[in-house]
Amino acid sequence: MQLHIKNNFSKSLPSDPNLNNTRRQVKEACFSYVIPKQTDNPKIIHVSEDMLSTLGLSSKDAATKDFKNVFTGNLVLENTKPYAMCYGGHQFGNWAGQLGDGRAINLFEVEHRNKIWQVQLKGAGETPYSRTADGLAVLRSSIREYLCSEAMHHLGVPTTRALSLALTGDEVLRDMLYDGNQAYEKGAIVTRVAPSFLRFGNFEIFAARQDHKTLRTLVDYTIENHFPNIGAPSKENYIAFFAEVSQRTLDMIIHWQRVGFVHGVMNTDNMSILGLTIDYGPYGWLEGFDFGWTPNTTDSQHKRYRFGNQPNIGLWNLYKLANALYPLIEDTEPLEHILENYKTDFQRKSFEMMTTKLGLFESDSNDKLLIQNLEDVLLLTETDMTIFFRSLSNFKKGDSKQGLDIVKEAFYVPNQISGSIAQQWRDWFQMYAERLGGETLSEEKRKAKMNAVNPKYVLRNYMAQLAIDDANKGDYKRIDELFQLLKKPYDEQPEHEKWFAKRPDWARHKVGCSMLSCSS
Ligand code: AMP
Ligand code: MG
Repeated sequence: MQLHIKNNFSKSLPSDPNLNNTRRQVKEACFSYVIPKQTDNPKIIHVSEDMLSTLGLSSKDAATKDFKNVFTGNLVLENTKPYAMCYGGHQFGNWAGQLGDGRAINLFEVEHRNKIWQVQLKGAGETPYSRTADGLAVLRSSIREYLCSEAMHHLGVPTTRALSLALTGDEVLRDMLYDGNQAYEKGAIVTRVAPSFLRFGNFEIFAARQDHKTLRTLVDYTIENHFPNIGAPSKENYIAFFAEVSQRTLDMIIHWQRVGFVHGVMNTDNMSILGLTIDYGPYGWLEGFDFGWTPNTTDSQHKRYRFGNQPNIGLWNLYKLANALYPLIEDTEPLEHILENYKTDFQRKSFEMMTTKLGLFESDSNDKLLIQNLEDVLLLTETDMTIFFRSLSNFKKGDSKQGLDIVKEAFYVPNQISGSIAQQWRDWFQMYAERLGGETLSEEKRKAKMNAVNPKYVLRNYMAQLAIDDANKGDYKRIDELFQLLKKPYDEQPEHEKWFAKRPDWARHKVGCSMLSCSS
């Protein structure tokens, strides 16, 4: 196994001089060196071919003992020094102090095809940042992260990636629902890959400690390595940096809204500075279109991180990042201006995203109303978001009567579509049919464009759970089946048509399908 190893992050930034793996507050340092835990009986159960080649590896490499040992933390490669990063964060609206990589350990960076990738293990044991927890991860949450992060990439959503999924052979004690029922589960490790795993919280921690020196060092490093187009460090360029992070964050969230993804824990420690979807915990996919939905039971009371609130939370988090960068800029006006722009850009980009979902490419002053009316009628009864938008591309110009028939598979309780509700749908389809009259694209081209933004297959909550149930019994075929399916989410895959279906009734209130906690 030949990897072109780099250690830019750890070579460029201040490290914690304490080399002991004890829990502590780490000051004036961006990371602490730490060795992953040896595991009892490691076993790789899935590998992403795509990420293998991204890192310059082959399937042959993936079958070696070294691969297994490196990507389960049992072998530390020569010239590499694993480390955990120090960060803080605002959790559920409150400053939580130091958090850090409590169970993520960065192995090294790999350079391949002029790109540099960070490679890290999630679930490889305790670090100085593990606080009261064990640094481990269980199989169910690892499958969820592994499948979803790769699926998101293929959906065109910016995200961290995953190279491999492995069992450690160790057992991990978890209270899955935080209800006092602890049980042993299989331990697992996901190897994650991204250009950087830096989060808003990496910057916040230094600002909170008034350590402006390390803050500046980290910002300069980030711009130089990850935003090289911005140029040399200066007050103006720090502002430009914030503007770009703001834009990337918004673009990522617009993608989430487009595909119906709900992150579930948008704390500032889970916000990537590169605008990547990061930390797949109690996330979920919309089944019924519902702005108020969150999969995270830990957030069920206030629903802070509900689907419809994600854009606002992105902005809230950016305020926190702006505060953290302020000491380097000392001028609120340009930061406020960028945050104001986020709001107007959100309105514009969200509108553009919805028009492409609806296949509207000409401009029409009534489109805002058309979209508003659609959202209103979608909320009247439980209507599957994925099936609705995918089916809508079958709508033919000029015939509004076909509408309900075309989308009927999307309704969870079909006989609710009667009386005034059916009438509201007919009215909407009438408006839509008239609007399509103003489109110049051919029927065929409109359909192709709609199908390129409205996925046919997403990782429905129950699908991940089926793969988990099988894997817990030692059967990993379903993981591969879903992995392959989700590589082409926009394609018709007739052999996989069974996954283009509403959530089955058994999954409505099942743990892992609609109810998830942060326990992982
Ligand atoms: P999360 O909610 O998973 O993003 O985690 C919030 C913080 O808790 C981060 O600092 C994590 O590294 C840490 N953390 C979560 N789970 C564990 C665990 N099992 N062991 C140690 N630290 C953890
Ligand atoms: Mg996290």
